[in-house]
Amino acid sequence: MSPYPYDAPRSEALFARGQAVIPGGVNSPVRAFRAVGGTPRFMVSGTGPYLTDADGREYVDLVCSWGPMILGHAHPAVVEALQTAATKGTSFGTPSPGEVELAEEIVRRVAPVEQVRLVNSGTEATMSAVRLARGTTGRSKVVKFAGCYHGHVDALLAAAGSGLVTFGLPDTPGVTGASAADTIVLPYNDLTLVEAAFEEHGDQIACVISEAAAANMGVVAPLPGFNAGLKALCARYGALLILDEVMTGFRVTGSGWHGLDGVDADLFTFGKVMGGGLPAAAFGGRADVMANLAPAGPVYQAGTLSGNPLAVAAGLATLQQCTPQVYAHVDRTAAQVADLASTALAREGVAHRVNRAGSLFSIFFADHEVVDFATATRQSTARYTAFFHSLLSNGVYLPPSAYEAWFVSASHDSAALDRVAEALPAAAKAAAQVPAPDLVSPPTARDRA
Ligand SMILES: *Cc1c(COP(=O)(O)O)cnc(C)c1O
Repeated sequence: MSPYPYDAPRSEALFARGQAVIPGGVNSPVRAFRAVGGTPRFMVSGTGPYLTDADGREYVDLVCSWGPMILGHAHPAVVEALQTAATKGTSFGTPSPGEVELAEEIVRRVAPVEQVRLVNSGTEATMSAVRLARGTTGRSKVVKFAGCYHGHVDALLAAAGSGLVTFGLPDTPGVTGASAADTIVLPYNDLTLVEAAFEEHGDQIACVISEAAAANMGVVAPLPGFNAGLKALCARYGALLILDEVMTGFRVTGSGWHGLDGVDADLFTFGKVMGGGLPAAAFGGRADVMANLAPAGPVYQAGTLSGNPLAVAAGLATLQQCTPQVYAHVDRTAAQVADLASTALAREGVAHRVNRAGSLFSIFFADHEVVDFATATRQSTARYTAFFHSLLSNGVYLPPSAYEAWFVSASHDSAALDRVAEALPAAAKAAAQVPAPDLVSPPTARDRA
C-alpha cells in the first residue's frame, strides 16, 4: 500500500511513461518529488489560484510556477495577448516591435538599468551577465554565496541552492575543476568575509553575484546593509556587482528588490515574472557596461529565440497588469498565508521560523534564526514532508521541497485562502507527529561556520 494518504493513478501512469523517455521523468529535477516522496502531480490546467491534475483533483497553487504566475493562471489579458501574437506568427529571427516595448518597460521600472538584453531563461541571463562582467573587467574570478542559486551555469554551480540543496549535492559531476576554480564561494550575509576575499584577490575579481534577496535555500533576506556593502566593496576594488533578480524582479515590487533597498548594482538579471509564464529573461544595467556586448562591443552573446514575439507579448501583458493594487494584494495575501500556517504549526507545538523578503516567504522547520545556508539546512525536512503530503491530499499545492519559497498571486482570493486555512490544522498535526529532537536548540558556532 502507498504510504501517502491518496492515490493518483493518471499521474502515476504518466510518470511511468515519462520515466521511460525523460531522465527521472521530469524536465527540471525538483518537479520529481524526490525530496518529499510520492508521485508528482501532472497538471493539465490552471485557472486563477487553482491547478487541476490529470486525475481531476483541484489544488490551491502556492508555487505559481516558481514565481512567474503573479496574476494567477490563464489571466485573460495574458491569454488574449498570446492569442493575438500567435496569429501573427511565432518567430521571425529578426527584430520585432514587442522586444523594444518589453525592454522599455524594464528600463522604465528599474532606474539603474539603462539597457537590457533579452534571453530565454534565468540561467542564460546570469551566465551572460558573468561573461559580460569578465569581458568588461578583464578579470576571471567570481564571488558567489553558498545557498544562492543562479540557474545551472557551470561556474555558479558551486554550493548552489534550489534543486542542489534538495538533493544534497554540494557540486555536480560534469562541471570541471577549471570552470569552478575561478568561483569563490562565501557564506551569505557576512560582509567581513567578502572584504577579506577582496583583500586577497581584489585585482582578480570580475564580479560579485548575489540573489537580491536569497530565495533558493528557502527565503533568507539580506541583512540590512548587506547588498549596499557588496556594492561599496565592488566599487572600491573595480569589480562589478550583479544582483540576480530572476526571482524577486517585478514580484516583490514593480521594480523588484531594487524598489525595496535601492542598491544600484552594475548589472541585474531578470526572469520568471517578466516572461508571464513563457520563456523570457533578461540581463541589463549601466549603458557603458552593456555597450561591451555584441554587436555594440566585443563580448559575444546571442539567441535564436531571444525576444520571441509570444514570450515578450506574455511578459509585457503581465507587467502592464502588475499595478500597485496587485502588489498590495500579493503582499497582504502572502502575509495571510504565512500567518495561517504559522498559527496552525504553533497550535501543535511545531518549532518553525517564518522568513520573509517582501512578498516572498518560506517556513523553516527549525527553532533558530535562519540567516545563511548553514542555518537554513539545519531543519527537519521530515516534518516538512509530512506537512506537504497532508496539504497535498487536502488540495493545497506547496513546493515539493523544504528549500523553496512559497508563492501567491493577485488571484488568490478569500475562497482560496479559506481552502488553505481548512487544510492546515491536519497538516500541522501530521508535522507534529514527526519527532525532531535536535531542532529546538540554537545552532552552535560550528554549525554556522
Ligand atoms: C529561477 C532562478 C534562476 C534560474 O532561472 P531559470 O529560468 O530556471 O534558468 C536564476 N536565479 C534565480 C535567483 C532564480 O530564482
